[in-house]
Amino acid sequence: MCCKNSEFPYSAIEARYLLQGALSLEKEQQELVAKNISNLLYKKKYSKAGVFKYDCPFLIDNSCCVYEYRGVICRAFGLMTSYHDGKIKAPFCSDYGLNYSNVLNLKKNVISPAKYKKLKVKEEPLGFNISYKYLTNEEFEQTFGFKFGEKRALIDWF
Ligand code: SF4
Repeated sequence: MCCKNSEFPYSAIEARYLLQGALSLEKEQQELVAKNISNLLYKKKYSKAGVFKYDCPFLIDNSCCVYEYRGVICRAFGLMTSYHDGKIKAPFCSDYGLNYSNVLNLKKNVISPAKYKKLKVKEEPLGFNISYKYLTNEEFEQTFGFKFGEKRALIDWF
């Protein structure tokens, strides 16, 4: 679900790393990805929607074919988000019985201590600031000594 119907922001350095992953694929998979990309570019050209949302071209048979090379957005998606006011928000997939659904108070969209304690989880599951903007800001660039570069929707790198 995370890999469908979205824009997938990717910076220049992430796009290059993803391309490295694509080049490491078997020829058959490379051809499938290339076909997906070409279909998407065609659809995008004739799309009238303001924001073009699509299924990721690297999703083959419901599995990421470049998993080790995926970008920041793909790595952070599905985690609990925390905000400056201390509130946390569960990812949308918890509504479908996935991530965190067994420890959430689904009505209030908050962690339920009763539920996680019942599961014998010792510590409360944490939320993190996982916004793409935050995870690719200058602080990270300085810490790790590189530049993310220009950011675009994934499909716009092709
Ligand atoms: S790169 Fe992989 S993990 Fe990221 S959206 Fe595409 S298929 Fe999903």
